[in-house]
Amino acid sequence: MAMSEVGIKTTRDRLVQIITAEPKKYSQAELGRMLGVSRERAREIVKRLSLSHLVRPKHWSFYCLDCGKPIYHGATRCRQCWLKIYGAKMVSLTCDFCGKQFERKESEAKRHKFHFCSRSCIGKHAGRYYGFGTGKAREKFKMPQPSPNGRKLRTRVFELYNEDYLSLVQVAQAMGIANSQIYRVRDGKHPINEKFIIGALKAFPGYKLGELFYVVPDNNNSIG
Ligand SMILES: [Zn+2]
Ligand SMILES: [Zn+2]
Repeated sequence: MAMSEVGIKTTRDRLVQIITAEPKKYSQAELGRMLGVSRERAREIVKRLSLSHLVRPKHWSFYCLDCGKPIYHGATRCRQCWLKIYGAKMVSLTCDFCGKQFERKESEAKRHKFHFCSRSCIGKHAGRYYGFGTGKAREKFKMPQPSPNGRKLRTRVFELYNEDYLSLVQVAQAMGIANSQIYRVRDGKHPINEKFIIGALKAFPGYKLGELFYVVPDNNNSIG
């Protein structure tokens, strides 16, 4: 019997041994049952050792009868295999993220410009093209650049607008700039540019340039 082994090895050691020998074969609940501990205890060990990739997700209880791919509880075949059985017209595609070949229903493939073999490839593609560090996100988190000659342009527009306008959106419209720009200037995330200055003169015709704008020393410069 394996009794002697039980005495020597801890639950943790045995769990690691099982999942490294047969990755993704057992779920946390099954591991717990095999080792005589709770599912939660098994989960805890797996999480602490960062070995969850070796454990079979709970819903992978069944495998496709035709292709062997893990499928959701209660199904006998994966969707792609069912489609083949039903005689759906399939096309062969190349994943736009990983380059893997896969099959898809023709009518479905036609609806999309890009094709991905899996949900994880969709996610990675989205992350690469729209995620943090791309486009607007990068711009938003860029460190403020020290201004040349150590001075910064400020505006009184935000103190004055209440007299003539109901909201900053109205001001932006009168200035001919984007709504987002006026908020970004107010929050110090966007510098005052030429378009902003010309727009302000247009939206506040009763004021002179020197009344709408003033110059302050740039704090970022003194730090750097
Ligand atoms: Zn299948
Ligand atoms: Zn892929």
